Amino acid sequence: MIKFNIPPFTGKELEYIEETIKNNKICGDGIFTKKCNKWLEDKFNAHKALLTTSCTHALEMAAILSDIKEGDEVIMPSYTFVSTADAFVGRGAKIIFVDIRPDTMNIDENLIEAAITDKTKVIVPVHYAGVACEMDKINEIAKKYNLIVVEDAAQGVMSEYKGKALGTLGEFGCYSFHETKNYSMGEGGALLIKDEKYVERAEIIREKGTNRSRFFRGQVDKYTWVDFGSSYLPSDMNAAYLWAQLELADKINDDRLNCWNKYYEGLQILRDKGFIELPYVPDECKHNAHMFYIKTKDLQERTELIAYLKENGINAVFHYIPLHSAPFGEKVGKFVGEDRYTTKESERLLRLPLYYGLSQDNVQFIIDKLKEFYISQNVTNLVAITK
Ligand SMILES: *Cc1c(COP(=O)(O)O)cnc(C)c1O
Repeated sequence: MIKFNIPPFTGKELEYIEETIKNNKICGDGIFTKKCNKWLEDKFNAHKALLTTSCTHALEMAAILSDIKEGDEVIMPSYTFVSTADAFVGRGAKIIFVDIRPDTMNIDENLIEAAITDKTKVIVPVHYAGVACEMDKINEIAKKYNLIVVEDAAQGVMSEYKGKALGTLGEFGCYSFHETKNYSMGEGGALLIKDEKYVERAEIIREKGTNRSRFFRGQVDKYTWVDFGSSYLPSDMNAAYLWAQLELADKINDDRLNCWNKYYEGLQILRDKGFIELPYVPDECKHNAHMFYIKTKDLQERTELIAYLKENGINAVFHYIPLHSAPFGEKVGKFVGEDRYTTKESERLLRLPLYYGLSQDNVQFIIDKLKEFYISQNVTNLVAITK
């Protein structure tokens, strides 16, 4: 069976985890957490990076820092993971969903302005598959209406928009280091902060509402409860696992890109024949090969294809029941404008296996099976596809 995902492992993880134990420091903000924070700041030219227990929690911190109050509105795509919305719903926000662009599956930047009301506080662009949203336009709208931009860059670590790292383009950027993401610590994430004015409060929120970070730096002589907060800092053991991967971030990225490019080249013939659609990466975007997906003709064809691949030992998956049509989404959110693409495109999208270490032979095998599927569907095109 070719698995859909295998969590990244580079070989040094156990050694580094052992080091945390020898350091007698396995709780948060130990040596490895600090190393990871600094690496993220240096590599992505981020003003401040703080490891968190998940991307969901980084988003929650961003929601608190944005001062979201009961009844505030937050604009985001409906085609996203539940956490994007959960983080703001937890603060009492109403979620305003707008349609996506069918080419990148990202929020349609041209539909955002019409969804803004005097209650709107935040826009959340989600960089689907590590391909950037149209950030210039989104930031321009945010500036015009005095809104905060929180990037859900869970899938966008190592991706760029016009030469800048995803996660550093909005007021806040949220990364995920879940085991399904490009770099992992099991469960984990990071909050990136652009403006110094948010940093001190972010550290307080992350440390249960205490000024403990300042205490450890010697800036105050006792630490105490100064604000609302939670426990958003991960164990240094998790950070140690992540460090082993950040050290090899470029290697992991190259390996994933090799698989992605092989899929893309190998499947072009099926696209040219009009059987499937392939991902689109705008010129101003550099992506991180987080995901390789194809789009089938419709839901029924996708279901048949998943079954066919499974019979051949390939685990391909789809995701995101659009949030506005989920039971809870109906309660806490509202779709503004027409759902032209969100539902239709989500039903056609199929993700193929892609992980660090997936062999080129396996990618070729998957390409061959996809071709076989479409040959069996349409025998007259047999010659064209196999040549
Ligand atoms: C994975 C993911 C998240 C959640 O990340 P966690 O680290 O598991 O909390 C949020 N948003 C998007 C778009 C994701 O892909």
